[in-house]
Amino acid sequence: MDQFERRDGQLMLAGVPLDELAEQAGGTPFYAYDLGLVGERMRRLRAALPDGLKIHYAMKANPHVGVVGALVRLADGIDVASAGELAVALAAGADPTNISFAGPGKRDPELLAAVEAGVLLNVESTGELERLARATDRAARPARVALRVNPDFELKKSGMKMGGGPKPFGIDSEQVPAALRRVAELGLGFEGFHLFSGSQNLRTEAIAEAQLKCFELAIALAADAPSPVRSLNLGGGFGIPYFPGEQRLDLAPIAANLADIAATAARRLAGAELVVELGRYLVGEAGIYVTRVIDRKASRGHVFLVCDGGMHHHLAASGNFGQIVRKNYPLAIGNRMDEPPSERCSVVGPLCTPLDLLGDHVDLPRAVPGDLVVVYQSGAYGASASPQAFLSHPPAREIVVGKA
Ligand SMILES: *Cc1c(COP(=O)(O)O)cnc(C)c1O
Repeated sequence: MDQFERRDGQLMLAGVPLDELAEQAGGTPFYAYDLGLVGERMRRLRAALPDGLKIHYAMKANPHVGVVGALVRLADGIDVASAGELAVALAAGADPTNISFAGPGKRDPELLAAVEAGVLLNVESTGELERLARATDRAARPARVALRVNPDFELKKSGMKMGGGPKPFGIDSEQVPAALRRVAELGLGFEGFHLFSGSQNLRTEAIAEAQLKCFELAIALAADAPSPVRSLNLGGGFGIPYFPGEQRLDLAPIAANLADIAATAARRLAGAELVVELGRYLVGEAGIYVTRVIDRKASRGHVFLVCDGGMHHHLAASGNFGQIVRKNYPLAIGNRMDEPPSERCSVVGPLCTPLDLLGDHVDLPRAVPGDLVVVYQSGAYGASASPQAFLSHPPAREIVVGKA
């Protein structure tokens, strides 16, 4: 992948060749995240998007403390999805004012922790609103509340749909006026709305259209709000290319659309801060997963590279993280970058299940035991989104390199 350099046949991250990265990590398998690439991504995004638009990091994409620490400094806020993530964000130095907490099924102690910390709660249901009021009745300060809205439309062509139709996420838009009245009755501090309609979208027009529709919906809903909207989170969904034929997102049309939205917001939602929240787009391309070939085996004419890591560390690359059709993540033999592909083989992990497949019939240079298989586009939804306890192998190591 073109975001990384190579030297003497080895892939490099932040100027460090792969074999040295493996030493730094203390062995294989490991994830490495290049903070320099995260910083670059963030700078490009800021240059493209309108001034004043807030960019938040949705840390469930990669909760590694080094990555979160970098994004606490680079982004305008952190979006957390559990009290555990909240603790990591706070420990990494995030300003609670700029943290928001979304996610269904927040337990009472999580609600209380969030209110005590002073973070914004994105409320996911009318039931949660009642529990929030009860659970935080004796808190030292009032809850800061935004209503997460489940719109009556979907983000088209999205990898994962998270809005529209019946959903566990957000309050159905038609129920929002009543919920807003309840916010006022319960004495909660209303701050705004949160809309997130889907993720991993590479279609710039679809993202722009969803953001515009979310914005228009928010303006309509604001008519029933107990106080002016101070924060409007329009979601994100910016995708990254994983598979052949996919292109990086063209930011220009999204930026132009957001600029229009910001101009209208200045009139119709005066004083409201506009937020986009991105996970994968900020970190996904900055990370690799590296696993060592343990065995090279030919079975009835097909070559298998059997590695020390696999789906238990990288569920998404195995194709089992919500994909409908399994496709190979981009792979390389990271210590043979100068060699052309010379054989078709399959890359598998050490688990006793056919699901443990990192590469199905891929063309690679001829690899032998000891070689390092690299899975690109692995900076998001990797280690923390994988069943690491399955089969009791050691967890993946994780390192950060470079400077943001
Ligand atoms: C997961 C999530 C995100 C991040 O999605 P990406 O595809 O990683 O950008 C943003 N907002 C909410 C509410 C989420 O649940």
